[in-house]
Amino acid sequence: MRWPSHRHRAMDDTRETRAKPKSGAIGQASSEGHDEFEATRHAMVETQLRRRGIVDKEVLEAMDAVPRHEFVPADFRNRAYEDSPLPIGEGQTISQPYIVASMTAALHLSGSARVLEIGAGCGYQAAVLSLLAKQVYTVECRGALATATAQRLSRLGYTNVHVHCGDGTLGLPECAPFDAILVAAAAQSVPPPLLAQLGEGGRLIIPIGDTENQELQIIERRGSAFRTRTLEGCRFVPLVGFHGWKDSSAR
Ligand code: SAH
Repeated sequence: MRWPSHRHRAMDDTRETRAKPKSGAIGQASSEGHDEFEATRHAMVETQLRRRGIVDKEVLEAMDAVPRHEFVPADFRNRAYEDSPLPIGEGQTISQPYIVASMTAALHLSGSARVLEIGAGCGYQAAVLSLLAKQVYTVECRGALATATAQRLSRLGYTNVHVHCGDGTLGLPECAPFDAILVAAAAQSVPPPLLAQLGEGGRLIIPIGDTENQELQIIERRGSAFRTRTLEGCRFVPLVGFHGWKDSSAR
């Protein structure tokens, strides 16, 4: 695979700050004008999230508001709220709802936060983050996914999410520093540019391990010190690129 240049390409030209969309408005943004999956989504929040220990009210509300079925390929729409990851094309996956909620909760976002996500995929995680933060910048290295995701997020009204196409292991220096960074692909170690782009008091969450199994690590910055804690086990597709796996067939 040819790598894009180290300069990131913004997929949108939305630079202004807008009020974040109301959860209700987003929930109704399905193409049919009503949300046929509302009850299924409530059940997902209750059984997969709340009962498993996700207690952050705002995170639960965001998970209840984002129409996950709009983010998966048509063939998987009816399985969108299952307790598992699903394919989104190009060999990539949308994470299991529990992992999305757990990583989001670990970031302790304030409404004024500026967040960087690495690995936009279908844009679902970015949409959840966007309801809890002020601005979300998300980087995707696969051009076709980045283009489709930018269009999807715009169609659904997530105006505070900015999709960039490029190698996310380099971060997004032109928009740094960030209050929080979420890496949605597995790495052997934390890419140094991401630590450098984390603001004071900021939190970074990343799956660290080999290509088969990883553990979520949360890293907090205090001045020049970084405190690392290990959370739960997980399984993500590989983070490829300059500070990641060199070859996507490494899986
Ligand atoms: N957060 C996504 C799921 C991520 S799957 C969602 O909600 O759908 C992991 C994604 O990381 C894949 O789309 C993959 O193409 C992307 N990826 C892997 N390495 C990357 C890199 N160096 N920079 C940007 N994206 C990367």
